[in-house]
Amino acid sequence: MKSTITQKIHTHSKELGFELVGISPAKESETIELYRKWIENGYAGKMGYLERHLPLKEDPRTLLKKAKSVISLAMNYYTVDPSKDLSEDPSRGQISRYAWGDDYHDVIRVRLQQLVDYIKPLAESELQTRVFVDSGPILEREYAQKSGLGWIGKNTNLINWQTGSWYFLAEILISIELEYNHEPIRGSCGTCTICIEECPTDAILEPNVLDSRLCISYLTIELKDSIPKDLRPQIGNLIFGCDICQEVCPWNSKAVPTSEPAFHPRKDNLTPKLLHLMDITQSDFSRKYKGSPIKRTKWKGFLRNVIVAVGNWGSPTAVPALKRALINDEPMIRGHAAWALGQIGGKNATMALENQLNYENHPEVITEIKDALQSISN
Ligand code: SF4
Ligand code: SF4
Repeated sequence: MKSTITQKIHTHSKELGFELVGISPAKESETIELYRKWIENGYAGKMGYLERHLPLKEDPRTLLKKAKSVISLAMNYYTVDPSKDLSEDPSRGQISRYAWGDDYHDVIRVRLQQLVDYIKPLAESELQTRVFVDSGPILEREYAQKSGLGWIGKNTNLINWQTGSWYFLAEILISIELEYNHEPIRGSCGTCTICIEECPTDAILEPNVLDSRLCISYLTIELKDSIPKDLRPQIGNLIFGCDICQEVCPWNSKAVPTSEPAFHPRKDNLTPKLLHLMDITQSDFSRKYKGSPIKRTKWKGFLRNVIVAVGNWGSPTAVPALKRALINDEPMIRGHAAWALGQIGGKNATMALENQLNYENHPEVITEIKDALQSISN
């Protein structure tokens, strides 16, 4: 029997490494009002681009006028689990699983283009397409759900009933009608609320409603400023992102390792020693994380995160490295180093803070130093 274009798209997507593929009509979003409310409530924090994207997210046809279909694709990034002993070792940092390997934007964008190049000669008319991987102004989980890839869990991730949620999502808007998914959604969260209970910062306010301002992924990746002091202790040793609400999800017990070599962990990305990262310079950072998602947080944000984790570790062996950070050119780094010294306490930390108070002229850092001294004396 002759294969339809839709069948060929399904088959070739899998050949290109997309484990999940589904197609839905390019119609207006049905969840845009929930998204608008989420923005109005301030839950996007300082991610101003999410508000600016709102009008574009109302309908995929604002992104591609002649769009008729949305091809939703998902690529598995699950690899191995690091040893529990190492990931729970407070002298080591934890990096979110999606960032262990190469930058998925680079990997997936190439595959999307290959898929488009494959589809073009199959169509009878000239095709218009637009591809997106994660960063596009499209409510990708809604279209992925409609396309039959899974359901949106209480932790806000798209979950597939067979293989869980360790997926990167991507879309192709395309100017032809295709055969759409009509299968009912399989799987659900049911009465489970584990992710809500296990979130260290109570960022999941209610099922499917996440306040980014409390989420460790936002705090350690998207936030460019100081991390609010009251949230620093809950961050533990998470130095880039947080996977807790996915790790605890029972549906992820079915995850199978990806066949994509680019997502396998780079050396040192699983559980790096915090003290090794404390003296990382801007050029070290650029070299080490070239082509990695970790570069998004930039050197300053990454070092800030490492310092928070060092403070949570609380070991006096970190005092010399924190003293060096206390005279860093960046006020945000000096401020977080002061906080970390306050967490460690003891004579050496106190002396370093008192000494820096004589030289410091940045008001926020002065406040951090005074608060740190106060917390040591309490
Ligand atoms: Fe909470 Fe971490 Fe999930 Fe954010 S990523 S909602 S902090 S468990
Ligand atoms: Fe749903 Fe439970 Fe998974 Fe949370 S942990 S997403 S409630 S199944």
